Amino acid sequence: MSERVIPLVDHRSRTLVASVPSSAIAPTGLLADSLGRPLRDLRISVTDRCNFRCSYCMPKEVFDKDYPYLPHSALLSFEEITRVARQFVAHGVQKIRLTGGEPLLRKNIEILIEQLAALRTVEGRPLDITLTTNGSLLERKAAALKAAGLQRVTVSLDGLDDTVFRSMNDVDFPVADVLRGIEAAQAAGLGPIKVNMVVKRGTNDHEILPMARHFRGTGVVLRFIEYMDVGATNGWRMDEVMPSAEVVQLIHQQLPLVQLEPSATGETAERWGYADGQGEIGVISSVTQAFCGDCNRARLSTEGKVYLCLFANQGHDLKPLVRGNASDAELASAIAAIWQGRSDRYSQLRASLPPDASTGGRRVEMSYIGG
Ligand code: SAM
Ligand code: SF4
Ligand code: SF4
Repeated sequence: MSERVIPLVDHRSRTLVASVPSSAIAPTGLLADSLGRPLRDLRISVTDRCNFRCSYCMPKEVFDKDYPYLPHSALLSFEEITRVARQFVAHGVQKIRLTGGEPLLRKNIEILIEQLAALRTVEGRPLDITLTTNGSLLERKAAALKAAGLQRVTVSLDGLDDTVFRSMNDVDFPVADVLRGIEAAQAAGLGPIKVNMVVKRGTNDHEILPMARHFRGTGVVLRFIEYMDVGATNGWRMDEVMPSAEVVQLIHQQLPLVQLEPSATGETAERWGYADGQGEIGVISSVTQAFCGDCNRARLSTEGKVYLCLFANQGHDLKPLVRGNASDAELASAIAAIWQGRSDRYSQLRASLPPDASTGGRRVEMSYIGG
């Protein structure tokens, strides 16, 4: 096996300070980027901390006790997050996903959910509010999250075998606790629940069929994610990626599948249904099949930087505007100018370019901007 190289450079300092354009750009809900893509989905990272050390995301060698996590004063407050989110919604965002780090580690996250649940889309509808979690605190928190206005949760789970799971989260966390968290979320009405499994060839690909069998017929939608070259610390190698087509083939041989229509434009998962009607699975092929053409997602980091792509190497810092004396109209104009200048399509370019070439440098970590 070739040696992994894990660079230790802090990417977070690479920032463009967002500025207010000289002519105001009033929100119409119809904002488009330079490739004509609308803004529909906002992912908000509420903490850069996590109680897991998944090797593909926050490897222990880098995220150790000396890692410089953001101080509390650097994090956007719930009021600041909600104010920024309100401007995004005015530009057409319909869906907000809270993520991290581990979002359930952020104290009183229910209060933020309550504030976001009060926002309305341009059409006057409630937002679709969801959250991605490692499930470790879900059993304790599911009912309160539902009461605050959360509609659904996505739980990350990379295997059912306790030994495999403990070694993938690298903090010896037992799988049974996450499974109880999923049950609690179901009981609280946070469904339909999605379970995300990152497949790493040679590490947990033997868990694909047990996972499919376990969740079949339960109403939980299991989704297989190709292991991605996000960030700069996970020592990613293409030979550890298991293409989604192979995952589908593997399941289909044992549990016949039929392809389903996509649920919405910009939806990242390709959907497959069990031929006997026992539910569906999804595959997210971020490596082998680019879906940049429909990508309508913006990401807001814990400290208020907007990232236009999961593979971006710099963010647009809104904090000086948020903490300065910018009005809501100025903040909305700044966000519009950022989105209008967007041309990111990393996954489409990945195949034809050498590593990092399309983004021109070190990429931001997934634990900093969320999935
Ligand atoms: N801590 C939460 C969790 O694990 O669900 C939320 C944040 S985590 C960064 C969001 C998602 O990103 C998880 O589903 C995780 O499996 C996925 N992820 C992280 N690193 C990844 C990688 N290198 N390739 C594919 N997915 C990854
Ligand atoms: Fe934590 Fe989620 Fe990253 Fe795992 S994937 S280390 S649970 S943030
Ligand atoms: Fe969107 Fe970037 Fe992913 Fe393409 S690579 S789908 S632009 S986040």
